[in-house]
Amino acid sequence: MSRLAFQYGTVHTEKSKHAFSIKRKFLKHHLSVILMAPIMTHQEDISKYDYLISKDENIYLTLKKQFLNTRLLIIDDAHLLSEVQVDELLQVAISLHISVLCLGLRTDFRTSGFSGARRLLELSQVLIESPSYCECGQKALFSVRKEKGKITFCGEKILKGDSICYEALCPACYYRKLIHYKRLKQSGRL
Ligand SMILES: [Zn+2]
Repeated sequence: MSRLAFQYGTVHTEKSKHAFSIKRKFLKHHLSVILMAPIMTHQEDISKYDYLISKDENIYLTLKKQFLNTRLLIIDDAHLLSEVQVDELLQVAISLHISVLCLGLRTDFRTSGFSGARRLLELSQVLIESPSYCECGQKALFSVRKEKGKITFCGEKILKGDSICYEALCPACYYRKLIHYKRLKQSGRL
């Protein structure tokens, strides 16, 4: 039976590597597989993907017209999909009998959900958590943003760039750093 699955986590869960290794396994067994990512993907090397999904693209129609013989559809950075596109993916699994594996982040750097990830958590028949660990050794739950090496809780929801990086933190460390950041900001030292 074809199903919609969502493998989610924080940053640094190596989900992209996982997506490529699943693709390789499928190809080794001569099974058709396609690897996609939303056009706003965080990945720098987009040539690795077979297809990039546009912002308002109907994924169900794309699969129906171009990739009907596919056994598995893998979508990296799936949290960047729209809610409507996630609904279409469920239709891909149900009506086109193509299994769909989405990989992505659960929340942004301010602990808010991404619309695609939220809908995937609501609709997916299979939910898989990719574990990652905080600097203190506890299981990480959130991703924090660093700009030029300093933690920040301000800025756009999605931001890439050479001076930007992300770190996986447990809830206790995340809130400790948030309180410290707020104190610095209140005292004008930021
Ligand atoms: Zn921690």
